[in-house]
Amino acid sequence: MTGGCKVEEHEELYQLRKLPIKGILSVVTSPRALLAFVVSPLIVALLGAASRGDVFLYAVLAWLKWDDFGITTPSFLKKVGNATEEATKNISAGRDAMTTGLDGLLHHYRLDNVHYIVASAILFSYVIFFGLGGFLQWHYYIQKKDSPSSWKCQPNRFLTTHLHRQEVLLGAFNLFLGASLSGVLATLVLNGSDITTLYFNVADYGWTYLIVTTVLTFLFQDASAYYIHRTLHWPYFYKKFHKIHHRYYSPTAFGAVAMHPAEFLTLQFALVIPMFTVPVHFVSFLACVMYSYYYGMIDHSGIDLVAFWPWQPPVRFHDDHHKYFHVNFGFNTLIFDRYHDTLRKKTRFYSEAIFGGKGAQAANGRKEE
Ligand SMILES: [Zn+2]
Ligand SMILES: [Zn+2]
Repeated sequence: MTGGCKVEEHEELYQLRKLPIKGILSVVTSPRALLAFVVSPLIVALLGAASRGDVFLYAVLAWLKWDDFGITTPSFLKKVGNATEEATKNISAGRDAMTTGLDGLLHHYRLDNVHYIVASAILFSYVIFFGLGGFLQWHYYIQKKDSPSSWKCQPNRFLTTHLHRQEVLLGAFNLFLGASLSGVLATLVLNGSDITTLYFNVADYGWTYLIVTTVLTFLFQDASAYYIHRTLHWPYFYKKFHKIHHRYYSPTAFGAVAMHPAEFLTLQFALVIPMFTVPVHFVSFLACVMYSYYYGMIDHSGIDLVAFWPWQPPVRFHDDHHKYFHVNFGFNTLIFDRYHDTLRKKTRFYSEAIFGGKGAQAANGRKEE
């Protein structure tokens, strides 16, 4: 942050948190802290993963490659694995004889059983999405309905019933797309296609490589999300696509995936690029995507929370993006907003008509709250 403007201009509105060492340690001693720091983030991360639909693919990969982790497979799982292997072999043997018809065509492209697998992926995602998403909604928006100022970023603004319903339905539609794609990829993996560049054994590349690639994957995902999002705020793309996501001026967790399907697929595609291009450890990759899924949901929840990690902006940061439109484009760090000077400033004025990320000079007497 350089330049010679007023000090006030540079005062950042979003305070990052110092790593709470005491909080981390208390996880071991207090069940409450364990619930707050471990169990609930895991649940929301699962919800986020379901909402992007690719959770099924990761489950299949973990299941198939379990032995490569160097962990002994529990005997009951081994039985299931063998049975499935056997079944797959039988199916393949039977299919080999077929040369015509839909089954033959599917077999040719290693897509045997794709319909069952896609249907399971969709079902699995919907159960998590509506089950857990519904729970979060109930816990805050229904149970604490009468005291929004105690928990809500925008306590005086709620989506209308119509918009909220639309948000959930649009999210569910994108989920359907995501889960279908993930189902197809899972089918390819199950039928023996080695489409991902993920690796499973730490010893393959060593710990230094693992740590460096984890950080790079995280930064790559954050950078692509920033730049894609910023491009979506160019007037043309904004009016054509991204305006839909901005209908939800005071979003809920479901809003994280409520957007134009083209936008959803673009973001989804960018997020999984590392999985198909460079060797990244399965657990590192999963940690990075789960992290961004988790904060994707939390940042749209409208609940005024401060993140646990010292690099992660508070919920208010993206909530303000929905409130003020063309500002605060980042997600999991402030790096790119700081670099491009697109963080919201108290002294600037913002509206849906002011593009560019820097707002406008506030008119006399017209001050942002
Ligand atoms: Zn936006
Ligand atoms: Zn948003």
